[in-house]
Amino acid sequence: MRKTRAAVAAVALTLALATAACGGDDAGSTGERTSFPAGSTMQKLRDAQKLRVGTKFDQPGFGLKRPSGTPKGFDVEIAKIIAERLGIAEERIEYTETPSSIREQVLQQDKVDIVVATYTITDKRKQLVDFAGPYYIAGQTLMVNADYSEITGPDSFKDPTKKVCSVTNSTPATNIQKYLKDKTKQLVLFENYDKCVKALMNRKVDAVTSDNVILLGFIATNEGKLALAGTAFTEEPYGIGVKKGDDQFRNFINDTIEASFGDGSYRRAWKYTAGKYDQSGPTIPTIDRY
Ligand code: GLU
Repeated sequence: MRKTRAAVAAVALTLALATAACGGDDAGSTGERTSFPAGSTMQKLRDAQKLRVGTKFDQPGFGLKRPSGTPKGFDVEIAKIIAERLGIAEERIEYTETPSSIREQVLQQDKVDIVVATYTITDKRKQLVDFAGPYYIAGQTLMVNADYSEITGPDSFKDPTKKVCSVTNSTPATNIQKYLKDKTKQLVLFENYDKCVKALMNRKVDAVTSDNVILLGFIATNEGKLALAGTAFTEEPYGIGVKKGDDQFRNFINDTIEASFGDGSYRRAWKYTAGKYDQSGPTIPTIDRY
């Protein structure tokens, strides 16, 4: 009996050593190593030991970059979860700023491998790129100066003197149009939300429209000056943009995100980023494996 136990222990030790010996660059904190098909995007990225990520640089809670250092936020953490599964250290992620207007372009021109940038999955965008996810469901709403009560929801823009700011090629900029009396005069578009927030605080516009969680980040970082007006009036499922047609890579990201829902990494990622501004916590979405 004792002999058998010793033999079992010896085999276990041999296995452990063998695993350790070939697992120096294992992916994932649990140490498991996924093997990838030869020639797949996953294998190419692992071989290159580099992941190029498009994200926002001006959105507190999702992707915010100070003049020095790397961007921080929930989208950045999602990118790190993907990198880890690929066996790429987070220091080897290269971030590119991708304002809403260039997200499809950077994927099509192979400037980045993935876009994680508060990127709503839409049928129109799916004609140009593919999406893994969703990993979060936001909703469009409005933000105003805290002392301003003339905007209570999108219907307030029936008044043609009221102006709203949004970002070029964003879904909020498209969705708000049906509420406007005069699109040319009432909608002010900038390249990023930072500029909209400045215009709002300088009273050049009456409201900014974007996703609730994005606006909550601006409200929290501008102590007491800004507030939400009304409730969400759209659904914005956030996806991870990948090059069109790379189903293998998209499936891998879907598997990775789904695993993160169950292993604690997703909730951890949320808690210390967007979760600071939105304590209601994310409802885990269902991955759309189209
Ligand atoms: N989620 C929306 C979109 O993808 C708005 C946020 C953004 O502009 O990034 O257009």
